[in-house]
Amino acid sequence: LGGSISRALQQMSNATIIDEKVLNECLNEITRALLQSDVQFKLVRDMQTNIKKIVNLDDLAAGHNKRKIIQQAIFNELCKMLDPGKPSFTPKKGKTSVVMFVGLQGSGKTTTCTKYAFYHQKKGWKPALVCADTFRAGAFDQLKQNATKAKIPFYGSYMESDPVKIAVEGVETFKKENCDLIIVDTSGRHKQEAALFEEMRQVSEATKPDLVIFVMDSSIGQAAFDQAQAFKQSVSVGAVIVTKMDGHAKGGGALSAVAATKSPVIFIGTGEHMDEFEVFDVKPFVSRLLGMGDWSGFMDKIHEVVPMDQQPELLQKLSEGNFTLRIMYEQFQNILKMGPIGQVFSMLPGFSAELMPKGREKESQAKIKRYMTMMDSMTNEELDSSNPKLMNESRIMRIARGSGRHLREVMEMFEEYKRLAKIWSKMKGLKIPKKGEMSAL
Ligand code: GDP
Ligand code: MG
Repeated sequence: LGGSISRALQQMSNATIIDEKVLNECLNEITRALLQSDVQFKLVRDMQTNIKKIVNLDDLAAGHNKRKIIQQAIFNELCKMLDPGKPSFTPKKGKTSVVMFVGLQGSGKTTTCTKYAFYHQKKGWKPALVCADTFRAGAFDQLKQNATKAKIPFYGSYMESDPVKIAVEGVETFKKENCDLIIVDTSGRHKQEAALFEEMRQVSEATKPDLVIFVMDSSIGQAAFDQAQAFKQSVSVGAVIVTKMDGHAKGGGALSAVAATKSPVIFIGTGEHMDEFEVFDVKPFVSRLLGMGDWSGFMDKIHEVVPMDQQPELLQKLSEGNFTLRIMYEQFQNILKMGPIGQVFSMLPGFSAELMPKGREKESQAKIKRYMTMMDSMTNEELDSSNPKLMNESRIMRIARGSGRHLREVMEMFEEYKRLAKIWSKMKGLKIPKKGEMSAL
């Protein structure tokens, strides 16, 4: 998909005069690409109409960058389609919330339940899992295994066949134990659909969830809209999680799920493991859908705020994907110098959300300075290596001593390094747009 959209935009860029014909050709090409990416036909058509309304070529005064305006319009339209206009119910730490997961069998519910619980547990919540899937043999065992691995309390039964009864018992049990996030996993049998939806309705009625999350496999293609709508009609779906975004999935189904449920996507699943779970972020997602990589907005920011003479070097480093501690050090310096902290890095998905949460800039700055002090105690060899194995225990001890910091803090700094290196490595081989070129997206 990305390829053909970039191509369409590129062709448009090459045209000297952008008239109705060029715009139509470009839009047709993009339409084709979006359809191939499993975006529902009706949504694509609506988008096309909207863009033509926004981009009135005659109204654009000469000298305006039409190309940039069209690109921006496409990007904004797609972002708008992913925004249902109201946020989903957000559970509050310390207050009991019941969250019910629904979705077809194999969509990733059980896996995602655990990821969701684990994500909150790491942030200090007290989550618990209830297995109300009595349909599939082995369902309870799977949840039990996942929960045990993550040290999350769970509830279920091998004997009881009534999902409503188990769901209610589980929720009651954990309410008594003061859990603040009670997660109900449900069945998703493929056949007997009518029975499935009736079961979901009953479980929901009995447990009165604060939030129902619809879990969707990103690879189901054009079926996404009908599937999401069917669930929405039997229970009040309030949020969507799209799974298996690590595979060849094109992700267009997410737009359909939002349209059908009128609910936002809140997380995406990016692998089978417990921590392969990301907070959903509209702009990087749309960039990816458009084949601009997650980095286009980031690139724009680089052009905007990084001093001209330092740009080539930074871009070169980015495209090599090789993240050394020295690069981290330099980026920390930049972040601290930049004034409005994290201007640039806030654009890089995953970079700032964790490192510099909004509203905690002071603490974050102090933390970054602390990390830099520790790095000051490192050798050149250590700073220039991107091999974490180099960091053995004796080196870590030496760094802790040298910087007067706690061992735990040095370990924490390395964890941060590994996390950032992972993000950075995604930039490898990235074709970097020159200033102005394509970067409007
Ligand atoms: P359920 O039937 O809806 O409960 O689905 P499961 O949680 O049992 O998941 C079905 C399969 O999808 C399992 O093999 C999971 O490991 C796999 N799975 C779930 N989420 C993801 C994901 O984000 N990425 C990948 N690659 N696999 C996933
Ligand atoms: Mg399951």
